Amino acid sequence: MSDLPFAARAGQLVGSVIDSSTSLLAKQSHDIVRFAMGSPAAEAIPWETLREVGEEALGAHDAFDYAATEGDPALRAALLEALAGTTDETTDERLTITAGGMQGLDLAMKLFVDPGDLVTIESPTYTNGSATALSYQADLLEVPGDEHGMSVDALREQVDRAGRRPKLIYTIPTFQNPSGTTLSVERRRELLDLARDWGSVVLDDDPYGMLRFAGDGLPSLHELADGDPLVFSVRTFSKIIAPGLRVGWVDHDPSLSELLIHAKQAMDTCTNLPAQRLVAGFLRHGHLDTHLTTQREEYRRRKEAMQDALAEHFGGRARWTDPEGGFFLWVTFEDSVDTEALFEPALAEGVAYIPGNAFSPGRRFPHALRLCFASTPPARIREGVARLARAVDRV
Ligand code: PMP
Repeated sequence: MSDLPFAARAGQLVGSVIDSSTSLLAKQSHDIVRFAMGSPAAEAIPWETLREVGEEALGAHDAFDYAATEGDPALRAALLEALAGTTDETTDERLTITAGGMQGLDLAMKLFVDPGDLVTIESPTYTNGSATALSYQADLLEVPGDEHGMSVDALREQVDRAGRRPKLIYTIPTFQNPSGTTLSVERRRELLDLARDWGSVVLDDDPYGMLRFAGDGLPSLHELADGDPLVFSVRTFSKIIAPGLRVGWVDHDPSLSELLIHAKQAMDTCTNLPAQRLVAGFLRHGHLDTHLTTQREEYRRRKEAMQDALAEHFGGRARWTDPEGGFFLWVTFEDSVDTEALFEPALAEGVAYIPGNAFSPGRRFPHALRLCFASTPPARIREGVARLARAVDRV
């Protein structure tokens, strides 16, 4: 860094390998199968419906003004109705509209994390979530998991060993990013009990929960917590409608509303109003249900295509998770494959992914990688996995 008078926290801004992969891929001129970013497929973005909805939603002159900090009333009302009867059902006083899930994570950390506070994260976890904790100068504790999500026993043991209670527990309970695993109901309950014992905030980040394509639905942490003020839930329209909208919401104890509004006013004043109106129109006309029904079926096909292709090319040489929803498969190779070293040869071969170490501040996953199956149709998925196999054979 130069000798400008930086704040201490500037040194803690670690960035995101995932987000940077978007710019890296944009610079490539050859054909690349893109398993890297966790975005919905281009063809899964309901742009025609959004355009139709836009005629009405953006037709009023006030659609381009500043908006209420807590969110446009039209969106708040439509969202409450869309969530009614789901595991994320909520009330108006618990809701704040945000600029995507990332702003929800930032707001939570801003409210609850002081420099030096202990924050537990899942290992592996979503890079931008751990990066946000670091930007508030947290001390991170990585907690391992298995096919049932974060190990709550490991959480308890590691916190005991650390000798201090976590201020905040960051979890992605459903179709986790990057592993695709889901925290079992028993563990959800145990986690909430531990958080209550410790007085820790549970940051419940669940962008993929509505994208279940197999198995039975589980109660969200929000539902199980039954109004416990320690649970702060972050949700987004990025994966279920479109990431470029940058609209999400947080569900929190009503006593936090004013603080959240103050924090947001010092940050971005209000969330993009045209985007909020578009989402409101999309929900009001009942498009979300139809859209999700089509998407879930398609994502199931894509996941199966990816698993079949992995079995064909890597059977016996790697293992991978079996998510019941969401976007990601987590692949772990036998020790000889270094997935950071593999990245460039794979890119040259025409396939992109995110190396496992990007999901762990302690770089615990040198032999793993994350593949997003959601953004690529089955035939291209097969081609991408074949390219990955050629790259592995080459290195
Ligand atoms: N949390 C998780 C677990 C995510 O996967 C993502 C998106 N990749 C986000 C939060 C951020 O969502 P948004 O794009 O709405 O900011």
